[in-house]
Amino acid sequence: MPLAREAVELLIQAARAWYFEGDRHGLRDREWMALRFLGRANRFSRTPSALAGFIGATRATASQIVKTLETKSYIIRKPSHEDKRSVVLCVTAQGEKCLAQHDPINPVLNAVTALDSEERIRLRDSLREILNQLDATHQRLNASICRDCMFLAERSAPKGRAGTEYTCRLYRAPISPDEIELLCASFERANDRLRVDEPADRMRVASV
Ligand code: SF4
Repeated sequence: MPLAREAVELLIQAARAWYFEGDRHGLRDREWMALRFLGRANRFSRTPSALAGFIGATRATASQIVKTLETKSYIIRKPSHEDKRSVVLCVTAQGEKCLAQHDPINPVLNAVTALDSEERIRLRDSLREILNQLDATHQRLNASICRDCMFLAERSAPKGRAGTEYTCRLYRAPISPDEIELLCASFERANDRLRVDEPADRMRVASV
């Protein structure tokens, strides 16, 4: 138990990098969280409602944060290709530059990058396991990446094309290899990846 407590206390100290009073480089901690999320979110999750869910804010608070980020020219609204009534929130080049240069999590990111690859994998897997247990306790879901999502289906590319093709069965849309590592607010954890070219009895039916 003392070891577990020490580890949790260290986590709390690390969290001071991203939870802070006041502002850093003109943004409060939740505004940084929002800009960071929008910089990593996939095309389905760059919406005001997904943003509100991710940062744990009401729609009104999220809308205020969006206005602040727009005023600073870090994000712009564009009409959604998926749903003409919606908008997508896109990080501008200025927003990306701000994240690269001033994001308060950058020192933590650099410290983790400095670990050797096995330590990084162990750290990621341990944190993921802890988060899974918290999710089960609080019955909530966090945004995560397509690669680990139950809705991602993969199959070998048709003859003549190399590699693997991916589809999201929730949004019924193709997912490009570049999008696999982006955050999605509709993510649901998979234990087993569905391959659409596997026999039917191997296929899991998605609850969509
Ligand atoms: S596969 Fe999952 S994570 Fe990826 S877009 Fe679909 S719902 Fe989101």
